[in-house]
This record gives sequence, C-alpha cells and structure tokens, in this order.
Amino acid sequence: MFETLSNSFSSALKKIRFKDDEKALKKALAELKKSLLKADVHHKVVKELLQRVELDTKAAGIGRDSFLKALQKNLTQILTAPGKQGFVYASKPPTVVLMTGLQGSGKTTTTGKLANYLKLRGKKVLVVAADLQRLAAVEQLRQIAQQIDVDFFGEEDEKDPVKVVNDALKLAREKLYDVVLIDTAGRLAIDEALMEELKRVKEAANPDEVFYVADSLTGQDAVRSAAKFNEDIGITGVILTKYDGDSKGGVAISLAHQIGVPLRFIGTGEKMPDLEVFIPERITNRLMG
Ligand code: GDP
Repeated sequence: MFETLSNSFSSALKKIRFKDDEKALKKALAELKKSLLKADVHHKVVKELLQRVELDTKAAGIGRDSFLKALQKNLTQILTAPGKQGFVYASKPPTVVLMTGLQGSGKTTTTGKLANYLKLRGKKVLVVAADLQRLAAVEQLRQIAQQIDVDFFGEEDEKDPVKVVNDALKLAREKLYDVVLIDTAGRLAIDEALMEELKRVKEAANPDEVFYVADSLTGQDAVRSAAKFNEDIGITGVILTKYDGDSKGGVAISLAHQIGVPLRFIGTGEKMPDLEVFIPERITNRLMG
C-alpha cells in the first residue's frame, strides 16, 4: 500500500536541491504539494502540512536535512489523531466493539478479519450478527465465523437488534469471552432510521469501541460519512477498507486530521489476513523511504 504516494514522494524528494536558500525551499514545497494533491490528499490538509514544514525548516535553518526532519515530524502529526492505536483491550473483559458503516463498505468482512486477528492473538472472540436489515448479512457472518473458527451469535427470525445484542452480551459474560464484535446494520446512504437504530444498539451494548468501516475507494465521501457518524453516534476509530484497490492513497493521509478520530486498521484485500494496523510513524517512514 501507499506505493503511488511513496513513489511520487521519493521522486519529489530527489528533485530537491538545497543551496541553503529560500528559493530552493519554495521549490521543494511546490514539489511536495504536487505529489500530495496527485494522491488526493485533501487540499486543506496539504496546505496546513506545507505551512508547518516551511515554518519548521526555516526555524531550524534551511537545508535538506532540516526540511526532511520537518516533513517527517509534521507528516506523522497529520496522520495522528487523539485516541488509541490498533486494538486496545478493555481493562475488564469482554471488550465490546460496535462495527458500523454503510452497506457495501466491507463491514461484515472486516468484522471477520478483526475476529481472525484477535483469535490469532489467543483471544476468545464472539461475533454477533446484529445487522438485521440485510437478510444475507447474518448468513454471511455465520459463514465467515465458521471459516475462521470463531464463535458466532445470531437469533433466527429476531427483528430487534437490541434484543440480539443484550442476549449476546449476557452469553459473553457467562462464557468469559475476551472480545465481542457486533456487526450492525448498514444502509446504502446515511438516513435517520439507521442512526436511530444505531443509537439504540449503542446504548444497549455500551461498547468500549465504535469502529466506523469506510470504503477508501469512495474518497472524500468516506471522510464525510465518517464525520457524520462521529457527530451522530460517536466513533472511536476508523477502519479503511479496499486499500488494495485505492491507487492514490490520499484518504488515509488526511482522514485522521479531517475528523479528529484515529485510523486504526487498513483493509488490504478480500481475504481474512488482509488487515493491517495503522501506525502513523510506520507510514511516514514508508512514505519517506
Ligand atoms: P458490508 O455490506 O459493509 O457488510 O460489506 P461486505 O463485508 O459484504 O463487503 C463488500 C465487498 O467488499 C465484498 O465483496 C468484500 O469481499 C469486499 N471487501 C471488503 N474489504 C475489502 C478489502 O479490504 N479489499 C478488497 N479488495 N475488498 C474488500
């Protein structure tokens, strides 16, 4: 992932020749701007990043080293939002996670990926089918759970997701599960009915985490819908899916900065192991080669 951005970044950095003057810095900033905009990083984020890099470079004395150092520091800051990194367990199990998102974003698949990730770390995981809007979703989650050998909870013919969640949590406490992942209903677009149902489910679940699953291929729409979910429901992290198909990569760069919620994982394929923890420092290092 990040190949395109990484390539254009390194070619931009290669073009930079400093002779300790301001003109060279302006040129370097212009090259950087081109590569960021080409990767679809939001223009406001680009502007802010460049301003900070310019200020820091000047403060340290213009030169290639100070420029690269300023870029490294500020890029990492842009990629970081207040909150947690990767998966964090609650102090008292079970850690309850609500998986939210629009239909087709990859929410059910990602619920499976996350369950698989936790299972491989020795955790006892329960996945809960509380997406009762899309008939096939319950069956899809059941099959994924079977495939990765993780326990599944669903109630046939039940229409109320709150009842499913309450029953699932009761079982999880009795059977001492470490983590409960609740797959909630998605819609094709954000609507009031979806938000109302989610609010009720959230109240019942009292989750430690609310993850918003966003499709990176939808670009800025992914950022806008994540922001809306954050306003209405309150989210603690974003998981960006289909990053393998996102040739540009800019959404991942600007998302945390734009909505103030950390990007926690990235989906990089259709298979269960295709999930990566998002660590800002690591991404900066990858981008800067
Ligand atoms: P939901 O409606 O949000 O639950 O979406 P699904 O989990 O059913 O996923 C929709 C489609 O996206 C499926 O075909 C998944 O295999 C695919 N998908 C999910 N995550 C990824 C990913 O990270 N990369 C790719 N290439 N496909 C993905």
